[in-house]
Amino acid sequence: MLKTLRRKLILLCTLITAAILTLMSLVALGIFEKHFRTQNHLALENHLDSLIFCLQTENTISDAYLAEMEVTNDLIILIEDQGQPLLFKGAHLSQPLRDTLIEETKALAVSKYHFNLTPLYTSGLDFPKLTFEFTSINKMHLLTALAVFSTNNGRCNVILISNMKKADTYIFKIRLLFLLFTVVGISLLALFSFWFSNHAIIPIEASQKKQVEFIAAASHELRSPLAVLQTSIAALDYEPDSQNANFVDISNKECIRMKRLIDDLLLLSNCDAHSWSIMPSELDVDTLLIETYDLFVALSQQKKVFFSLNLPDNLLPSLFADGERLRQAITILLDNAFSYTPSGGKVQLVASTSSSILTIQVIDNGIGIPDEHKALIFERFYRVDTSRHAKEHYGLGLSIAYELIQLHHGQLLLENTSGGGCTFSICLPLRKDIILT
Ligand code: ADP
Repeated sequence: MLKTLRRKLILLCTLITAAILTLMSLVALGIFEKHFRTQNHLALENHLDSLIFCLQTENTISDAYLAEMEVTNDLIILIEDQGQPLLFKGAHLSQPLRDTLIEETKALAVSKYHFNLTPLYTSGLDFPKLTFEFTSINKMHLLTALAVFSTNNGRCNVILISNMKKADTYIFKIRLLFLLFTVVGISLLALFSFWFSNHAIIPIEASQKKQVEFIAAASHELRSPLAVLQTSIAALDYEPDSQNANFVDISNKECIRMKRLIDDLLLLSNCDAHSWSIMPSELDVDTLLIETYDLFVALSQQKKVFFSLNLPDNLLPSLFADGERLRQAITILLDNAFSYTPSGGKVQLVASTSSSILTIQVIDNGIGIPDEHKALIFERFYRVDTSRHAKEHYGLGLSIAYELIQLHHGQLLLENTSGGGCTFSICLPLRKDIILT
């Protein structure tokens, strides 16, 4: 399933980015070509204007000047005085070809653009002009500019024809360059999409792996109480009646274990689905800690572990929190502390405040947690040593406490107790608005 998702992601990323890049290249090419053509038109119109200026200000124009202009700018120039062409025969191209192209230009100007080459009147400043492109009969792409204006001698026609071959070759090269740029760009984007999709899928893969491990661990933990239940129920059939109460008692205990485990699993899955929230209210932390301490006094006596509650001299500031959830988190930490602290050891419940943080610590001098396990200790079903625990320890307690403190926008931290053992610190923000966000 993930492979298909990865393939689809790569394809989608590549297609979308390729489409965007192609579109951008086409738009850029279009803008460039339009600008380039406009420049060509303007250049030819400038030649036309300078020629007209010469003809209007000087009575004669030398053949050498015209020849140089034709050769330098790859032009055909025709000047007609009162309808009669000047004697200049052109500096390049054969005469028949020149004549054909000039005739074609004139015919097109008249037929297609309705340009009048023999107007009755043209003023000195305002005279008709025309610029257009066409492909000649012999397949030459040409740009032409025409003007009819007055000189001292009377009406004068000027026709300039420019061969667009060089411009077309240049545009062709630019198109190839754009194509190359687009192909290289798409290839690079495809590579990036491949890399990106692989990276995007990593958290999904990790979460899927975690889910599978979680289900496997949960099933494994549920199997043992079920097996005990099955054996006890089967034993009811063949064992003497006097043993029945014992089997019912065992079954009852296993049902309680299973319920606790299922409750823990439900709580964690609700946290994952973000469908679980806290119900915060103003909380008297001193009372909460004293009540929680009282809950464990009997256990500490039974286990022969010295247990103390250390509160500051002044009352703790009230906290905006979900009292039941906070008590649950502290209970998990105390429960662990008593489980992993041998007789004769010491467990402390300590509270302190700074300007913005309330810290509740559960400090023990028990067996402690080796450094290499510390990073994994809040993972679900993680146990440092699976062989050394009582049946109630599934490795879910710390992950639940972690989630509960996270829901309060706080932190659950683990350090070594100096001299050995663990110190778990719950750090909670005192500001109400932080808890409410
Ligand atoms: P469990 O239900 O197994 O105690 P937890 O998630 O509460 O699960 O704890 C995970 C593991 O962390 C425990 O199995 C234990 O190995 C270790 N641990 C937790 N608290 C302590 C402690 N106070 N001292 C030593 N080890 C601890």
